[in-house]
Amino acid sequence: MVTSMLSASAITTARPASALPQINCRDVCKSYGAFEVLNKVSFSLAAGAVACIVGPSGSGKSTFLRTLNGLETISSGEIQIAGGHLPPRSRSEINNLRRKVGMVFQNFQLFPHMSVRSNLTLSPVRSLGLSRDEANARAEQLLDRVGMLSHIEKLPSQLSGGQQQRVAIARALAMQPEVLLFDEPTSALDPEMVNEVLAVMKELAGTGITMVVVTHEMGFARSVADQVSFMVQGQLIETRTPADFFDHPEDPRLGKFLSMVL
Ligand code: ADP
Ligand code: MG
Repeated sequence: MVTSMLSASAITTARPASALPQINCRDVCKSYGAFEVLNKVSFSLAAGAVACIVGPSGSGKSTFLRTLNGLETISSGEIQIAGGHLPPRSRSEINNLRRKVGMVFQNFQLFPHMSVRSNLTLSPVRSLGLSRDEANARAEQLLDRVGMLSHIEKLPSQLSGGQQQRVAIARALAMQPEVLLFDEPTSALDPEMVNEVLAVMKELAGTGITMVVVTHEMGFARSVADQVSFMVQGQLIETRTPADFFDHPEDPRLGKFLSMVL
């Protein structure tokens, strides 16, 4: 019974019929006092596509991701994402947008006092109005998908970093987001756990969900992304195909960055 209620849509969201980009940012600026963290960032991403953003520490990557789901207000410019608009025009617009735009953090941010199961079922029951049975079925299917079903009754502290991050990805998917933002999802992991998380992300990339991934994993960016952008000093420059980005960087700052990380 449980499985018959599920479909691929528990994981993916159908692409909108329109050809409009799923994300469109125009001249987004963000300042902390006199300090301009984001300087006229423009960015566009098609529904179902995967973008990677790379760049030096402190360049504004996390701030940019947080503006995309309204965790951070913007000083000027505008963002269209998942059918919503930022700055939001109403309270319901921001709530809707947050439901449709999920986020995976460097440090997992699972609820430490709750089992893996409860981590996955809490928001679908509270925010989406799913019944407990529906939420459990969805949780089990997603945990199976990321190879974590056998750990469903454990607490986050009983899991390795890689396992916690796979649970965090499943938790984000349980809200059936249209867009999933990843902020350095493998940076806090021991090296041997990086690949298990990247494998889950790679598999997701083929399912039609729109992904924006801030990462230092250049191999992932090259092999999985549809477009790669370089952020430096609050500006997003050089949004290109992976081949052009890595093999023919135009801006000397990107060339220098790549020579240090590759
Ligand atoms: P990245 O993710 O690329 O490392 P961040 O977006 O975290 O960069 O930060 C960009 C810059 O903004 C940094 O110089 C950081 O110190 C500054 N910054 C971030 N958050 C705040 C804040 N809440 N108040 C003041 N400055 C901040
Ligand atoms: Mg960051």
